[in-house]
Amino acid sequence: MATNRTFTMIKPDAVKNGHIGNILAMITNAGYQIVSLKLTQLSVKDAENFYAIHAERSFFGELVEFMSSGPIVAAILEKENAVDDFRTLIGATNPNEAADGTIRKMYATSLGENAVHGSDSDANAAIEGAFHFAIREQF
Ligand code: UDP
Repeated sequence: MATNRTFTMIKPDAVKNGHIGNILAMITNAGYQIVSLKLTQLSVKDAENFYAIHAERSFFGELVEFMSSGPIVAAILEKENAVDDFRTLIGATNPNEAADGTIRKMYATSLGENAVHGSDSDANAAIEGAFHFAIREQF
């Protein structure tokens, strides 16, 4: 399994607010190579499956509704220490707690609508990348 890759989504709020270009620039300026990239939209079922780990959480319904509400950008990214460094680059889940200069601090609107997703482990990066991209799309 590749340990130098992570998976991200630019969430519907950031796409709607016109931040795709700026967020991709922050990602590439941080040293990430874009391995796979697409503009797509999750169905309700897709969002339920993607976030199945949170199915019992109180915010699950809201999260699924939000994540299926409009287009997202999905991407696989490559860099040494990709997963951990990307979590640092995006900042805390709640933008009010995110460090200055992080993507969520700059572009997130709220705890739920927080601009970007970043995988939390190498195993999940592989699973989430495969959720969105065929092998032939993973360069
Ligand atoms: N989320 C939410 N309310 C919460 C916690 C999380 O709406 O109290 C949403 C938020 O969009 C977050 C996603 O659920 O990004 C997944 O939550 P997780 O705890 O995995 O945070 P992340 O890994 O995205 O920082």
